[in-house]
Amino acid sequence: MTHRGAGRFAPTPSGQLHLGNLRTAVLAWLFARSTGRRFLIRVEDLDRVRAGAEAEHLAELAALGLTPDSPVTRQSEQGERYDRALDHLRGRGLVYECFCTRRDVAEAASAPHARTGFYPGTCRDLDEGERERRRALRAPALRLRSGVDSWSVTDLLAGRTEGPVDDLVLRRNDGVIAYNLAVVVDDAADGIDQVVRGDDLLDSAPRQAHLASLLGLPAPAYAHVPLAVTGSGRRLAKRDGAVTLEDLAALGRTAPEVLELLLTSLGLPGSSLEDALAVFAPDALPQIPWVVDPAVLSSTPAPPACNPSVPTDKVSP
Ligand code: GLU
Repeated sequence: MTHRGAGRFAPTPSGQLHLGNLRTAVLAWLFARSTGRRFLIRVEDLDRVRAGAEAEHLAELAALGLTPDSPVTRQSEQGERYDRALDHLRGRGLVYECFCTRRDVAEAASAPHARTGFYPGTCRDLDEGERERRRALRAPALRLRSGVDSWSVTDLLAGRTEGPVDDLVLRRNDGVIAYNLAVVVDDAADGIDQVVRGDDLLDSAPRQAHLASLLGLPAPAYAHVPLAVTGSGRRLAKRDGAVTLEDLAALGRTAPEVLELLLTSLGLPGSSLEDALAVFAPDALPQIPWVVDPAVLSSTPAPPACNPSVPTDKVSP
């Protein structure tokens, strides 16, 4: 099956990739390949970059067999695209300067009747004199004049999902392009029409799909996949123990063994990506978070630490 579109994995080169991130990357590859799409990797390095993290992430993904079909792209190299998108929105009167501090936004959001996490449009209708006065005090962020309160997307796993859309930030007051704008512009520019990522980002999808529509871009197909969590239900983090390829290598776990652990946690044959691909069916994926017990991972001889609902007995020591 061939398809002109692409799927992608888009790591942020700040921390290390842990088992949850790697599992999402495997899923992004499986979703793309099983639908005949190309698989791409985009480094989201507009903010919070750690020296060496990009090379480390790419090497770890490659060790699992996750190599992109086109050269890796970096958001830090796409400034012109983002400026063009901002100009397009400006031309439609959809951008305004916002002088609110984080604290202003937090206070507005905690006011009676405020919608949680919803920017109430404090700076939307400032007149030019007022903006001029405020510019002298603080560099403005740029916000979208969104025009809608909510938007719906259809997620391959979560189904139809409606979510709030507010006047989101397009460019921060330090000049950095905001995540939502960069993602939407890059996905469309790179021919990405399938977005597979952790379900902590499901809330962002309606905002991003709405922004895409304002930019005249198609929204991608979305699949927000369950996260890896600890036994107490908290999202897995580096501090939870041996949860990165590097940590696990130090315990003698090879990359193929970690791949096997990840595939097995998905209820798939753990022998190889190709074998998993042969039977991959989104409907059969576990719909619940993957519970990882790092203590079990660190113990010898075998590291299975997965949902009780899926087989865990295939990991080599
Ligand atoms: N860079 C984001 C992350 O590392 C993913 C963003 C996306 O997939 O849209 O969580």
